[in-house]
Amino acid sequence: MIDAAFERFRYHKPLPNFYKIENPKNPKREISEELLFELNELALKYDFTGISYSKLSDELKQDFNIDIDNILIFKFLMGDELIRMEPSRQKGKLMDDEFQEYGIHVYEFADFLRKNGFQADLIHPLDDSISLRAIAMQSNDCVITRSNMCLFKDGLQVGFFMIHTSIDNLPFKKENDMLWVPDFCSTCGICIERCPKEAFDENEKLLRKVCTAHREGCNECILKCPFYKRGYDKVKRRYERMKKRR
Ligand code: SF4
Ligand code: SF4
Repeated sequence: MIDAAFERFRYHKPLPNFYKIENPKNPKREISEELLFELNELALKYDFTGISYSKLSDELKQDFNIDIDNILIFKFLMGDELIRMEPSRQKGKLMDDEFQEYGIHVYEFADFLRKNGFQADLIHPLDDSISLRAIAMQSNDCVITRSNMCLFKDGLQVGFFMIHTSIDNLPFKKENDMLWVPDFCSTCGICIERCPKEAFDENEKLLRKVCTAHREGCNECILKCPFYKRGYDKVKRRYERMKKRR
C-alpha cells in the first residue's frame, strides 16, 4: 500500500521530498563496517536483494555534467507473479505501484545515513538527463545484455534506486567478473527474435517508443532469457562448457 502522502516518482517532475531528516552540516566521509552492515540489514528487511556501490569516474561526471562521487545502488527483484502477467495497462500500473513502494523505503535508507552523520540524497529514478545504467555499470557489478537490460547476479528482473553520498570508503569493486555475458549473448539472441513488438532496429538498438515495457509491462524478453529461466550461475556454467567445446 503506497503512503497517500507520497507524491510518487514521475517523469519530468521534481523528486518528491519524503525525507524526515535533514542532511548534516559537516557530513562524515568514512563509514564503519558495522554501520554498513546495519544499512544492508535494513535494505533486506524491506525485501531488497542487496546494495552495489559505484565510484563515478571523472569522464562520466563530465559526460552528464554531475558532481557526485559515491553511489549506493539498492536492488530489488520485480515480483515473479507480476512479470508473468499478460501485458496490459493494468499490469503497467501494478508494476509502477511496486516500483513506487520500493522507492519510498529508499528515503528511509537516506534518513538512516543522515541520522548517522552522512550526506545522502536520492537520485531521481526517472531522470532521463543522466544514464542510471552508466552509473550502475561503474559498480563493476552488472553488465548490459543484448536485450538492453542491466543484469546483476541477483537476477535479470532487478530494479534499482540510487543514493549519492559523502561516504568515500564504500566497498567499491575494482573488477567486473561478468564481462563474459556479451559473448554468451552473441550466441543466443532469443530476446530479439521473440520480441512481439519488433522493438529492436537492424543494429539491435532498442526502440524505446516501440517497446511497451513501461506502458503495458511487456516482459517477454525477460521471460524468454536464460538468465531469467535458469539463473546467472547455471548460465555461466553452460557458457564455460560451451567455451571448452569451441
Ligand atoms: S535472451 Fe539471450 S541474447 Fe537476450 S539477453 Fe538473454 S542471454 Fe542475452
Ligand atoms: S519488453 Fe517486450 S516490447 Fe520491449 S523489447 Fe522486451 S519483448 Fe520487446
